[in-house]
Amino acid sequence: MSHSVENVVIIGTGCAGLTAAIYTGRANLSPLVLEGGQPGGQLTTTSEVENFPGFPQGVDGFQLMDNLRQQAAKFSARFETGRVVSVDFASTPLKLRTEEREILAKAVIIATGAAPRMTGVPGEKELYGGKGVSTCATCDGAFYRGMDIAVIGGGDSACEEALFLTRFASKVYLVHRRDALRASKIMAGRTVAHPKIEMVWNSVPVAVEGVAEGAVSGLRVRNVNNDVESVLPIKGLFVAIGHEPNTAPFADALVTDGQGYLKPAAGSQVRTHIPGVYVAGDCADHVYRQAITAAGMGCQAAIEVERWLAENEA
Ligand code: NAP
Repeated sequence: MSHSVENVVIIGTGCAGLTAAIYTGRANLSPLVLEGGQPGGQLTTTSEVENFPGFPQGVDGFQLMDNLRQQAAKFSARFETGRVVSVDFASTPLKLRTEEREILAKAVIIATGAAPRMTGVPGEKELYGGKGVSTCATCDGAFYRGMDIAVIGGGDSACEEALFLTRFASKVYLVHRRDALRASKIMAGRTVAHPKIEMVWNSVPVAVEGVAEGAVSGLRVRNVNNDVESVLPIKGLFVAIGHEPNTAPFADALVTDGQGYLKPAAGSQVRTHIPGVYVAGDCADHVYRQAITAAGMGCQAAIEVERWLAENEA
């Protein structure tokens, strides 16, 4: 067990966490940054990011996160692999327990992001990861060159995945439970107009077929208007139906909304009711959920930490 007390521990290395690391590092706070199961966060699973300010030609998501990490390291942020499993925010200093050790901290920034939601239909879990079911077109799209595949969802993510997958697949079915896309107009327009994308409206998945063979061979869907079931003959399935916040270890200590997102104290986007504990990014934002808004929250949390430490150490 370590008995030293960190100035600030930042949990998570997505846009929010790494921006907080850059700011607290540059403020000479020597932040300890905990990297969880997906270093770099959700942007490492996206392709071209076209709307992050400062990149008129767009930027690769993985490259952007690598840049942020290098920038944080330049200002002496220290990185450690570790997943927080529980916290004690009633104690001073604050206590974090990872799978490996206990960490004491004067201040904590929680920037744990959100994880992809799954449909839960039979076959999805069994065929996830290398057997045909994926949540990341950028990671796995190239495996489906010349094959028919399906994407489930109707938001910007589903459209982005479907459009990206047209680079490889011969045909992309976009399965959506309603008759209108939730995605922004520009993305929806591009998707519906794409010659390789076939819309499967008003349809929900029933089962992913191919479990016995260990590889996806089809997606059984049900039309919600007439209850008729059919099978899309696909070799790959990409699930893009939104996200769940990664907040379980903090849910007892902090306030959450009905969906599990961390709720800051009134009057702040990042300050919680516990002195010294701040939140940033998608774990506390189900409204905007953008790389730039997450980075903005990371910046706010870092400035709050600086001020709080200065006031409490004076
Ligand atoms: P989202 O906007 O919440 O969309 C989720 C989609 O999945 C919805 O169409 C929803 O259907 C459907 N869905 C949810 N649960 C389902 C289930 N159990 N079975 C079948 N379908 C289900 O999530 P998102 O697309 O991941 O986007 C999240 C946020 O990131 C949004 O604010 C989005 O604008 C943003 N984003 C932006 C970009 C970009 O600008 N390049 C790219 C990706 C994401 P309903 O429509 O019927 O609810």
